[in-house]
Amino acid sequence: MRCFAGGLVIVCWLAVLCGCAGVSSTDYLEPHVLNIREGSQSIGTSLGGRAIECVSLGGGEELIVFIAGIHGSEPAGVPLVKRMIEELRADPALLDGRRVVVVVNANPDGLAEARRFNDHGIDLNRNFPAGNHSTTRDRHGQHPLSEPESKALYDLFNSLPRPARVITLHQPLKCMDYDGPEATTRPLAEALADASGLPVKKLGSRPGSLGSWLGVDQQIPTITVEFYKSDTDLSSAELWERYGRMMMAAVSYPAPPAVE
Ligand SMILES: [Zn+2]
Repeated sequence: MRCFAGGLVIVCWLAVLCGCAGVSSTDYLEPHVLNIREGSQSIGTSLGGRAIECVSLGGGEELIVFIAGIHGSEPAGVPLVKRMIEELRADPALLDGRRVVVVVNANPDGLAEARRFNDHGIDLNRNFPAGNHSTTRDRHGQHPLSEPESKALYDLFNSLPRPARVITLHQPLKCMDYDGPEATTRPLAEALADASGLPVKKLGSRPGSLGSWLGVDQQIPTITVEFYKSDTDLSSAELWERYGRMMMAAVSYPAPPAVE
């Protein structure tokens, strides 16, 4: 036994010397290719063992991706995307040749605990491999995609065609923030501001956020919708009353939504 342990130490030491100990610094960037099918499926599992559900609707070339619940203390987006899915399933003509992919609850453990972070205490929206990812704060993760929830979203985006736009749903800064090419993303943000009453406001690209990774680095129009804190207290019907037109405008842009 002692001999085995000693041998193990030597092997590990040699492995370190030749640089082949464990994964290389960028192995975490290898995407796991998901087969995103029409309907609902799990794209990953949270630290707490909860499925990360993804719904894909329609098969058009223009792809719109919605992400709700990445901060578990900001729950208003979750019932909103669920209601939007119901509306689009009830009347697929609303898709009008588009494809809509929805991550209903990107941080299910956080949502269950009404907590911003995942079970490791990491802010998932600071854990993407954006050029501005920072490891100076414990909450950002030791490296990008250190968390299974952020890795599931990374794999999802790598498995999909390039989206025409990405809509992420947050609270409580009551504005329409955006990242991406100014000429195309600003008008989109303004259209969604008109439909929601939330003013356009540039908050600045947060390190390792989806807005930084997709909007800044990849120049994909990315909208960060910031609802009111008090929207947490609204029923699903009240949320839809207030923001349903904006959600459908995000689908049908640049045309106005087909339904109120
Ligand atoms: Zn947030």
